[in-house]
Amino acid sequence: MKRVRSFHSLLEARAAAAYLLEHAIAATVITNDSDAVALRNVTSRVTQGGAHDLYIASNDDHARSLELLEAFDREPADFTPEWEADAVPDLSRLDPALLPDCPSCARTLPADPFLDACPSCSAEVDVGELIVARHGPDALADCYVDEPRQFDPEVVDRMSLVCDGCGYALKNLGVSGRCPECGTAYDKMAILRRLLGEHPH
Ligand SMILES: [Zn+2]
Ligand SMILES: [Zn+2]
Repeated sequence: MKRVRSFHSLLEARAAAAYLLEHAIAATVITNDSDAVALRNVTSRVTQGGAHDLYIASNDDHARSLELLEAFDREPADFTPEWEADAVPDLSRLDPALLPDCPSCARTLPADPFLDACPSCSAEVDVGELIVARHGPDALADCYVDEPRQFDPEVVDRMSLVCDGCGYALKNLGVSGRCPECGTAYDKMAILRRLLGEHPH
């Protein structure tokens, strides 16, 4: 695992990870808990941070992931449909008691992840960030689709994933099979889901 970038915004970090995954790079977001605790003490708009770290599974992908992140930075701020489901929390699944108040006027904000201004006072707000700042990143955990994410097998086959048995690079050898080095059976979907912290299916 190699850290390629830190983000202030959990949503942006997840969008970047989804973008790398679309481009055959196994990437995941790890939130630094000590930073997250510090963020909870921030009462106004969350701007401190680097609390959400983007990691790639293989150092081999480092140069390409940096190139892709540059391309990601040039993407329009609104999310493209392919990775929308992964990147944006479904705030309708949030416990309404966790909905944050506007830092400016203290009115409760609506469950809208795309909201950029308070409907009451027009102050700039980011509902997802405010939830994370107040309740920690786990508060949003229920707001992401719980079905396992679907990955294109052809894309997964191109990822730099390695054999559990011997560490051999299994790139372009098929999504599942036996390692040509040590003979251990592998399933790249399972390897990827484990890397991403998801349960095997
Ligand atoms: Zn307000
Ligand atoms: Zn092997």
